[in-house]
Amino acid sequence: MPTSSRTPYVGGNWKMNTDRAGARELAAGVCEHLADVEGVEAAVFVPFPYLLTVREALDKAGKRVKLGAQDVSDRENGAYTGEVSAAMLLDSGVHAVLTGHSERRHVIGEDDALVAAKTRAALDAGLEVVVCVGETLEQREAGQTDAINARQARAALAELRADVLGRVTIAYEPVWAIGTGRTATPDDAQDAHAKLRALVGSMHGQAAAGAMRIIYGGSMKPSNAAELLAREDVDGGLIGEASLKAADFAAIVRAAAES
Ligand code: PEP
Repeated sequence: MPTSSRTPYVGGNWKMNTDRAGARELAAGVCEHLADVEGVEAAVFVPFPYLLTVREALDKAGKRVKLGAQDVSDRENGAYTGEVSAAMLLDSGVHAVLTGHSERRHVIGEDDALVAAKTRAALDAGLEVVVCVGETLEQREAGQTDAINARQARAALAELRADVLGRVTIAYEPVWAIGTGRTATPDDAQDAHAKLRALVGSMHGQAAAGAMRIIYGGSMKPSNAAELLAREDVDGGLIGEASLKAADFAAIVRAAAES
């Protein structure tokens, strides 16, 4: 039963996994499994060195799975060794990027200001952005879930113009659920998503809030996807481990299409 007019969105975050042949095979497999699936947007977030390979595989399969990158520089160009700009990503056939993923916030050390700058740089260049927010276990146990989500989302969305908001998706990813096999309950996910939507409404108006997709990430897999996706404000998923198996990822995309 459709619960909103928002088209569901499911992204596969491959993280620092695969090799060139494996990336090609995985992308082709995802397209094959999704050949008859409609009413949902799917994207794969691929390691930088394999973007062009996956671009070719997606084009060859002819299925409109979006190509995504896992990071982007906040700078336009210049002497920033090792960085990859939004323009370079666009030039490589990329549609979307992740910003604020918990592994970049908590392992690499990116702060709210850098996540916001990367989000703006990607949107200014014309990319779509999936902005990730979410609390750590410690923060959850201290009752800070809503405050952390609000702080991270507010920082990332504060300076965005109205005309770019349609290219923004929020991913609520409780850090304690990422790669751990633990999943937020559907009630917890719905509660966090509804609060994030209310926050977007208070910042950018009800129309923008109603249109914005808010997806869940954290050990979503074929066996638990449907019950999470059935909730009103859960508009899709960001999938790590399960996105490395084409059949599992496709099963989640299918569940989203049917939600
Ligand atoms: C992620 O990396 O965004 C993620 C949700 O990972 P996993 O599905 O493995 O928990």
